[in-house]
Amino acid sequence: MIASLMPTYNRADLAFERGDGVWLYTVDGRRFLDFGAGIATSSLGHNHPHLVSAIAEQAGRVMHVSNLYRVPQAERLAARLVEATFADSVFFCNSGAEANEGMVKMMRRAQAATGHEERTRIICFDGAFHGRTLAMLSATGNAKYLSGFGEPAPGFDHVPLGNMNALRDAIGPTTAGIMLEPIQGESGVNASSIRFLQELRAAADEFGLLLGFDEVQCGMGRTGRLFAHEWADVRPDVVSAAKGIGGGFPLGAILATEAVARHLTPGSHGTTFGGNPLACAAGNAVLDVLLAPGFLSTPGHPGHVEIVGRVLFDALEQLVRARPDMFERVRGHETNNGLMIGLKCRHPAAALQDAALQEHLLVVTAGDNVLRIIPPLVVNEDECLEAVARLGRAAERVSPSVVAQSMGAQPEMAVE
Ligand code: PLP
Repeated sequence: MIASLMPTYNRADLAFERGDGVWLYTVDGRRFLDFGAGIATSSLGHNHPHLVSAIAEQAGRVMHVSNLYRVPQAERLAARLVEATFADSVFFCNSGAEANEGMVKMMRRAQAATGHEERTRIICFDGAFHGRTLAMLSATGNAKYLSGFGEPAPGFDHVPLGNMNALRDAIGPTTAGIMLEPIQGESGVNASSIRFLQELRAAADEFGLLLGFDEVQCGMGRTGRLFAHEWADVRPDVVSAAKGIGGGFPLGAILATEAVARHLTPGSHGTTFGGNPLACAAGNAVLDVLLAPGFLSTPGHPGHVEIVGRVLFDALEQLVRARPDMFERVRGHETNNGLMIGLKCRHPAAALQDAALQEHLLVVTAGDNVLRIIPPLVVNEDECLEAVARLGRAAERVSPSVVAQSMGAQPEMAVE
């Protein structure tokens, strides 16, 4: 008989009743080191006093009023994001997929409003993950996720990541824009080079296209700057954010330049819950931590996330050197890895993930046999070294028979 909770996930048989910092506790008192952060979402870890009190205080006043009225918490959060980024204006929604849908709508609408109604197609990249709505499944372009859901929504073209010739060949008279994750998460922590991001900007300018970055996973401090594209010094037209922006409270955002945002006039886009007082109180509390001096990096001044990220990256590289039979290499970003790191495994990453669980360490699989190491951004150096020690012990646990069995097996897809 089907479970009453629809079985769309293969869940580990673990239920957490509370958390504290980077630790999660089960009902029976077992303690787990959380280096998955609810898939790169619990940016402040668990039970962060500032986030908890901001949410509790707002819940005790007013949670929801609708967007028919002014929402001061949303106005403040938008103003702070504008101040801290390329953007001139922000739209709040509830999830990553919804932010990406809005990003595509904005690109199309801006093209239409400036005399190019025919420009509707978006160029996306192999290995992308943009979410589970019908249009974002099509933008993702992964046959496995599309299977059984009918005709893919029209309007998305795919090219290999990092290939400018293929990108230029794909641009046609009906192309509206380009949508890219500066670091692909779900397909295995594949970072685009700074040069590629800069070349995309140049190509978009040359052909009158809009450049949109999906920073749902790699944004909101994960790479050590507020947004990953900042490392490349590239100014996008639109950026989507979600996951870490609410520290675990559902919140998404679309950040855009005025040239793009001004075409979303009243009535053209909307949401019931998006940007409500409670979600934006959470978002403001997260920003308080992220924007505090020394937490994120500024040019010439590495911040907490970058510094701790380097310690983690170096320790993982040592582990790879110690266990070349288990691990192939560490994947991160060209300039700085921050806390979005991939560990490419020689055998299906799921076996390592299970072994890590036995060592009371939570990590997340990604495509291409990669373990994603994506802890809360508040993690400290000792906790990083502890996690790598547990990964080392996990590698000991993966028995030769599992390895032998896995040799011919197809790696499982990661489920986001
Ligand atoms: N975009 C990226 C890069 C993601 O990693 C995800 C989720 O993992 C999404 C979009 C979809 O976000 P959500 O699950 O909040 O809809």
